[in-house]
Amino acid sequence: MATEKKIVKTIRINADLCNGCRACEMICSAFHAQPKYSSNNPARARIRVLRHPLQDIYVPVYAGESAGAECAGRDKYIIDGKEYDECAFCRAPCPSRADFKEPDSGLPLKCDMCEGEEEPLCVKWCITDALVLEEREEEVELAAEQEELDIGLESLAEKYGIEKVVDAVARMSVAKKG
Ligand code: SF4
Ligand code: SF4
Repeated sequence: MATEKKIVKTIRINADLCNGCRACEMICSAFHAQPKYSSNNPARARIRVLRHPLQDIYVPVYAGESAGAECAGRDKYIIDGKEYDECAFCRAPCPSRADFKEPDSGLPLKCDMCEGEEEPLCVKWCITDALVLEEREEEVELAAEQEELDIGLESLAEKYGIEKVVDAVARMSVAKKG
């Protein structure tokens, strides 16, 4: 089976070391301003620090993939006697809340690991080392992914007819380009 090597990047978050300074939010929003570093606004950052000083809660959370719809139910954690906000650890820009969305347009924000930089800037600017980048190589099975795609397409073609599927894909690709 054909495989491909891919680099998996992980940011190890040691919340015990976070002091809630929010430097990570500042540098992220400045780096992603247009043009770069022309402004900064933590509401536009791709990282948010859950901050409840009275409960000694400081937890950085990264923006992940956008959720098209909200979950059927929500979760709420109590850990070591500390109660966290509803959906506190979720990384998704989601219709249920304003987190990880551009404040003006509502467009979803997603951490891109500071593409093009040697090291994610939030990691570089975190003086307490609460954020540490880890990288490893992983083998990915190409054929399996392809097979899955083929099976999915075949079942769609069976259900709707190949012409409708081709038509829908063409429309989606035009919409994506536009
Ligand atoms: S820069 Fe580091 S210490 Fe400061 S809030 Fe972000 S993760 Fe916490
Ligand atoms: S890795 Fe880059 S894009 Fe992601 S949260 Fe950190 S500064 Fe923002």
